[in-house]
Amino acid sequence: MQVYVNGRFVPAQEASISVFDHGFLYGDGVFEGIRVYGGTIFRLQQHLERLYHSALCLMLDIPMTPEAMRDAIVETVRRRALPNQYVRVVVSRGAGDLGLDPTLCPQPSVIIIADTIALYPERYYTEGLDLVTVATRRVSSDALDPRIKSLNYLNNIMAKIEAQQAGVVEAVMLNAEGYVAECTADNVFVLRQGCLHTPSVAAGALQGVTRDSVLEIARGLGLETAESFLTRYDLYTAEECLMTGTGAEIVPVVRIDGRRIGAGVPGPVTARIREAFAALCHQDGVRVERAEPAHVAS
Ligand code: PMP
Repeated sequence: MQVYVNGRFVPAQEASISVFDHGFLYGDGVFEGIRVYGGTIFRLQQHLERLYHSALCLMLDIPMTPEAMRDAIVETVRRRALPNQYVRVVVSRGAGDLGLDPTLCPQPSVIIIADTIALYPERYYTEGLDLVTVATRRVSSDALDPRIKSLNYLNNIMAKIEAQQAGVVEAVMLNAEGYVAECTADNVFVLRQGCLHTPSVAAGALQGVTRDSVLEIARGLGLETAESFLTRYDLYTAEECLMTGTGAEIVPVVRIDGRRIGAGVPGPVTARIREAFAALCHQDGVRVERAEPAHVAS
């Protein structure tokens, strides 16, 4: 593992931030999860834009330019020296007092961790995943814009717990009006009559980097796409369903609330999207030289 904290690379066991950091005390901060495929940091530019836009909305001044942040991420990935990685970038408000006041936090914290991740066992990718809709609603988009990728994940965590209590690993969250928003850390898609639908940002979906990639891929495959207001009916009666996220990548969904989706096995369109994504993710991003150990590098 490689860990960068406030401008320095430190051994993982020694990496720490203050207990007075408002990221810890109040979830006051923003983050990104980014993947590296064969030495290419997938869509780094898009992740950086989302990070800086999220911070802007919170009036959180990231204490480095996007270019310096990009260089720090590239260097962290280079040092990790693995072709495939998962990178977590966190910018929190920094240490302050025990009150909420962010103006009393003079120095935001910047943390970059380069490691690997496997969110789900391989069988979910080959056999598909079960979802349940849960009682915990997605935070309303007029309370917290879903485009802001903040450290506020309590609803998502409660939804995840509900899913686990129900015996499955992932949840579909609805918004306050009952429209489908997203899963706990993933966007959701359904194929209906040749059109690939995903909940709109207004319905409470994070504007996922993988979501954008899948929308582009689908159009490239000649499918119609739509950012929609979907109900559970639209999920249950879909021909195919899939979930997307940087950590999870693209996961076929075969059952929702006990209803079989389509044929109850991963569908052919999902398979084509997964194949196209596997090609795209090695091409579209910032290439890191020598992100592989010297004895492996060609
Ligand atoms: N929704 C939520 C709530 C998430 O945390 C994530 C993961 N970042 C996603 C969707 C998927 O976004 P991305 O494809 O950018 O990882």
